[in-house]
Amino acid sequence: MTARSRGAGPRDYTGGERLHYGAMASMSCEVALPVPLRSTFTYLVPESLAERAVVGARVLVPFRNRALVGVIVELARRAPEGKALKELQDVLDPSAALPPRVVELGRWVANYYLAPEGEVFRGMLPPQIDLRADRELRVTPAGAERRLALAARGNRSEAEVDELALLRLAEIEGKPVRADRIGKLPGGTRAAESLLRRGMLEAREVARRRKPRTQRIVAWGRAADGVDIIPGTENERRLYQVLSEQTGPLPLAELLRRTGVSRTAVERLTRISILASWEEPLAPATAATALDVDEAPPSHVLNADQLKALDEIRGWIDSRAFTVGLLHGVTGSGKTEVYLGTVEAALAQGRTALVLVPEIALTLWMGRICRARFGAIVAVLHSGLPDVERVREWWRVRSGEARVVVGTRSAVFAPLENLGVVIVDEEQEPSYKQEETPRYHGRDVAVVRAKMESAVALLGSATPSMETFHHAQKGRYRLLQLGSRVENRPMARVEIVDLRDDFRQTHSSEPVSGALQAAIARRLEEGTQSLLLVNRRGYSWYALCRSCGASLECAHCSIALTYHKARGRLECHYCGYSRAVPKTCPKCESKHLYFVGAGAEQLEERLKVLFPDARIGRLDRDTARQPRMWQQLLGAFADGRIDILVGTQMVAKGHDFHRVTLVGVVSADTQLGLPDFRAAERTFELLTQVAGRAGRGELPGQVLVETYHPEHYAIALAAQQDYLAFYEKELHYRRMMHYPPFAALASILVRDARLENAVKWSREIERFFAGAATSGVRILGPAPAPLARLRKEFRFQFLLKSPKRTEMGRLLRAALDHCTRKEIPQKAVQVDVDPLSLM
Ligand code: ADP
Ligand code: ZN
Ligand code: ZN
Repeated sequence: MTARSRGAGPRDYTGGERLHYGAMASMSCEVALPVPLRSTFTYLVPESLAERAVVGARVLVPFRNRALVGVIVELARRAPEGKALKELQDVLDPSAALPPRVVELGRWVANYYLAPEGEVFRGMLPPQIDLRADRELRVTPAGAERRLALAARGNRSEAEVDELALLRLAEIEGKPVRADRIGKLPGGTRAAESLLRRGMLEAREVARRRKPRTQRIVAWGRAADGVDIIPGTENERRLYQVLSEQTGPLPLAELLRRTGVSRTAVERLTRISILASWEEPLAPATAATALDVDEAPPSHVLNADQLKALDEIRGWIDSRAFTVGLLHGVTGSGKTEVYLGTVEAALAQGRTALVLVPEIALTLWMGRICRARFGAIVAVLHSGLPDVERVREWWRVRSGEARVVVGTRSAVFAPLENLGVVIVDEEQEPSYKQEETPRYHGRDVAVVRAKMESAVALLGSATPSMETFHHAQKGRYRLLQLGSRVENRPMARVEIVDLRDDFRQTHSSEPVSGALQAAIARRLEEGTQSLLLVNRRGYSWYALCRSCGASLECAHCSIALTYHKARGRLECHYCGYSRAVPKTCPKCESKHLYFVGAGAEQLEERLKVLFPDARIGRLDRDTARQPRMWQQLLGAFADGRIDILVGTQMVAKGHDFHRVTLVGVVSADTQLGLPDFRAAERTFELLTQVAGRAGRGELPGQVLVETYHPEHYAIALAAQQDYLAFYEKELHYRRMMHYPPFAALASILVRDARLENAVKWSREIERFFAGAATSGVRILGPAPAPLARLRKEFRFQFLLKSPKRTEMGRLLRAALDHCTRKEIPQKAVQVDVDPLSLM
């Protein structure tokens, strides 16, 4: 990067950076900065910061016209010779924010997924609530001239008066002016904008450290001779008891709570020095956490299968050697108890544990179970937490106070040290894959982390991903089986409803088939519950024109719009675009539009007609926008306040409902039609998971799967709940087609709002591949992506297949370097290593 010299003022955050030539200072460091560039940046370490500038430390550095927070990823004893370098401005924490192993992990992720290092590290740090961004303005030489010219002139327009006032303010101060002060000058904001445009002012962004939040601490007062004052009144006696006899100085709020004395009374006693009080910084690590141990489920006496699995895992943990275990247990086989035992074994060794779950809603549930078992050493980390809470939990982990972390995908980077085990529950879940830069897979990173820390990775699932089960079959992962449900509860009976037959009998395309209606009616009579899974929210999947056959598409994406009846609109589920429902076809103006496919909204409406007396609930992103609302609806269902719950995929996962005896799957096969090599795997998984929701209590369960493709192996084998048979069949297909686990896959997506750019850049990459030594890597494309247009951008795709990952990585890197040389914008080229979806 280019460094420009400025008049160096006192070294504060206002950009008074100094410029040095390498030889002058003794040490430099590599800093990962949150900018979309695949490189780190070199800075000098000033003497005053040398002690705290360690690998993993958060630092504040000048970058172009801004101050940025980055992470030191490498230190060099000697600075590179002869290069103009800037200095670090500050080191933000008393000790390194990230432990060395986590830094190593971050660098691995950046390298493997070809992601900018700084963007990887940004996601690993806690939210920056201790910093505040500010804008500063300084007068340029042109501005100084302007000031003199204006000052010399007699009659000035109103705007010129404002300009002069602003320039003078900057002059008097002799240093940059903060943007918030300019707002207070009359006409200041407008004058500033105008001066900026004309190059008379210069703006830069700076970061300032916020004042640390403080709390008031209260102590019992002492007389001049250092002896405690003797309490007189009843209030004083109560305060004395707590502050002197029980605990010592306390935060004000805590004191009020414990003694029941009023705030005014405490203030009065402070004024007359019976109490002493002072402000203390509120250390994020020590602030109180709310414990919710009340409604935790009891722990069980483990059955033979569980004990056997746990014994083996304990052996791995005790050996302190890197081991990956796959806990393959049918739904309801009690995997959670095995996880808890595993965490316990790691803790018993003085090590820490990480438990990953696929959804935020599940962190609440798993967090509660873990807190009940292990108490306050459990921290919960996920992106849904308010910043303040996330920072607090993060530092609790970093300080070593919390030793068990429950979290979603990004918690794989939790700053735990001395890790003993990382557990990945429902390892096959696609939500472990991050679908934005850095495009990492949380499960795979978990395994790498375990390897770096000589720890155990335990992957759990009823339907392991093809990759994971393949590793287990090859002996790379150790396979543990829980073969039956706890207390030998039977698996639910799964029946297929052939919708073609149903149509022949009823001559209507009713979303709720005759068989499903009868089954629901029986549950209502019995007083047990039904759960209906539908694959899409909204009322109808799409609107078609009967005359010309066109479907109504999004204005920005090549995707059909979904009809939402309650809102009376057609909506795009990809970009959020929405429009009113047209009266006629936009293409041919025919009046014959019709709506196809029943979504969750329509299913609920239909059920209300069919079962007017039933209590019906719907759970999808339209009815529950926040995790809290999910919890409420699921809670109502678990408590039996809802008879029939309709929902999208979310209801299929994890939850343990004891009175559900019927699960209905409406339109089970829609996913099979997608151009996605994982379609069969996803369908099988979904059906098995949802079938696992039935009959988890004492009552036996029944599952009805509605489909137009009863003969498809994903559906037929899911009905038989035969994972192994499905695995073998699917494996055969993957081998034939050179798909994972037999080949490594990567995709390159080229996108731009202008079609000609997308085409031109795709050609450029194509030319590169044509001339490159591709040694065994097969390259397909460029071809329009299955989603050829998304959010106004045109998309072309390359697919790389290779039996060797290293070769593929090398080739991808070379391709990206080529793009940089050809000045193709970085955001136009998106690489996905081990993509889950090729849409
Ligand atoms: P999975 O995750 O394998 O689908 P869970 O861990 O949710 O299964 O366990 C299913 C149910 O069985 C839970 O209600 C759990 O409390 C209960 N359970 C687990 N282990 C036992 C056991 N040894 N004896 C009785 N009930 C158990
Ligand atoms: Zn038409
Ligand atoms: Zn769209």
